[in-house]
Amino acid sequence: MEVRINILKLFLVIFMVFPSLFISNSAFSTPFDEPSVLIKSSSVELTEFSMSYFVDNSESMLINDILLQRFTPIVSKLSLGTDAKFTWAKIKVHNQQQQAITLYLHHPHAYHLKFVSFYETQNKKVLEKFDIPLYQSGKKPLMYGGTAVFPFTLAANETKAIYVKNESFSHQWFQLSMYDEQASKQALVGTGKYIALLVGMMLALMIYNFFLYISARKVENFVYALYLISGTIWVSLSYGVAANFFGVFSAEVFQLNSNVLSMPSFLVLFIMLIFDTKKRYPKEHLALSLLLVLLVGDFIYSLFDISAALKPASTLAATMMLITFGVSISLWRKREPLAKYFFLGHSMFIIFNMLAVFYYKGLSDFNQINSHGVGIGILLEALMMAFVLSYRIKELERIKGKQEELKRLAETDPMTELFNRRYFQKAAQQAIHDAKEKQNTISIMVIDIDHFKTINDNYGHSMGDDIIITFAKLLMQHQRDNDIVCRYGGEEFLLLLPGCDSDNAYKVAERIRQAASEEVIVNTQQNPVTYTVSIGVHQLDLTSDTIQSAINAADKALYHAKSAGRNQVKLTQEKLDVLAQA
Ligand code: GH3
Ligand code: MG
Ligand code: MG
Repeated sequence: MEVRINILKLFLVIFMVFPSLFISNSAFSTPFDEPSVLIKSSSVELTEFSMSYFVDNSESMLINDILLQRFTPIVSKLSLGTDAKFTWAKIKVHNQQQQAITLYLHHPHAYHLKFVSFYETQNKKVLEKFDIPLYQSGKKPLMYGGTAVFPFTLAANETKAIYVKNESFSHQWFQLSMYDEQASKQALVGTGKYIALLVGMMLALMIYNFFLYISARKVENFVYALYLISGTIWVSLSYGVAANFFGVFSAEVFQLNSNVLSMPSFLVLFIMLIFDTKKRYPKEHLALSLLLVLLVGDFIYSLFDISAALKPASTLAATMMLITFGVSISLWRKREPLAKYFFLGHSMFIIFNMLAVFYYKGLSDFNQINSHGVGIGILLEALMMAFVLSYRIKELERIKGKQEELKRLAETDPMTELFNRRYFQKAAQQAIHDAKEKQNTISIMVIDIDHFKTINDNYGHSMGDDIIITFAKLLMQHQRDNDIVCRYGGEEFLLLLPGCDSDNAYKVAERIRQAASEEVIVNTQQNPVTYTVSIGVHQLDLTSDTIQSAINAADKALYHAKSAGRNQVKLTQEKLDVLAQA
């Protein structure tokens, strides 16, 4: 318990402290003379360089006003949150070489913006202007997948300032890089490959779970696959996979943002199913149900008005994280075996998503982790969910195995591993019922070991046990698939033979009697011990016999075999014949 609580505390500490490591101090930079990027050689590959930015709060400034504004220096990666709808970046470039060079300014996150414009200027004069209206469908100039690429040329010792206007849909974040022609081509090829890998992994998991669902019909596999579809679509949208690989932009597929609501809905459903909250954890189930109603409600709303439905999305996301996190802690404390794994995966999801939120809101500087936080979080959670699913299959199999073992123990005689009397009653009843229905014959035999008291007296009780076990094995060898063999008690056995008339049953009984009489068991003193059996056989009269009357009849035949000198098989019919003759 102590350890448990300490682990909980540790998690809380990591949870609180870890994100703060990524919170930036860029907001405190003081403006100074605008920096220039100096080009010293013909090989250019700049993924991080000095530039400056300006947020147009009026949201209406034209380039001539912009040229007069004071810009704030920053590196070429920035994130400014939702307030910086119209943000301008300024890159001043000076060519120090004695020859001209063509440079390619890359804007790899252009896909998530509404509108991007490039202005090539010199001495506060516009030389060239290029607009990319990303919210419109149709061909988009300068776009290579999700990346906008603006080429410009500098003569020897020339300086130019490039202005990039970014109009965002919601959060303002982007990253610029600058290359020579060769490096530009290479960078375009490499764009999005990590995200493609991530999406590929999620697709593979999704397909696998669909297969699992088809074969095992476990609804949680289906829900998990749906969660992965939603997650994959969401990641593809957020990280420009749609733009980079299919040339589709956020504006054109804006409706798909509803996946940000369906994904957590499937997650909540998954939690309910995997932990069987309805039956086992009613309080947690209530909280999850309320959350699900909110999420599904907003999802349905999103089908009619996606923009409006997305407004409460972040509040809902925060509520969801709180409730699901609370539920996983609560289940962990209730010693639900799967809860700690889920808690771990879910913590990863929350931590990485929080890092991403800090980044999108402009509270932390760009880095590979926070800028990919949502994707990493979803993938880690998805992997942990896959683990939880497989762990659960193992658990269910263990429980099932245990139940089967208990059932087997309840139905078998531990010494011989034959069925016991209880099982025989049940199985024989069914067999008689089937025989009646199919108008089939059915016979029964009662077998008793001869002079068993004497065997016990002469060789000891354990030798007696050995003979019982040996004979049980012999019976199993002679049994056909449909036959039911049981140890009826002591050294008495029953054999039910569906599909056998008295003649056939007699032949089987004879074989058993013969085989038993030929068996030799060696005792501890290495002396050979033999035994014989007597058998009474009865073919059931299906119009009148019950299981008990049939056993009684066979028992009478057995008595007859005993009195006729033992080591014999007798039929009830024979007895009747004998009586008839008398
Ligand atoms: P009969 O030929 O008439 O059947 O003679 P019998 O000596 O076998 O007579 P009966 O069937 O009445 O005796 C059965 C004996 O089997 C009685 C009991 O002590 C012994 N016995 C019952 N169960 C076991 C067992 O599990 N192990 C051993 N060693 N002996 C048992
Ligand atoms: Mg007996
Ligand atoms: Mg006996």
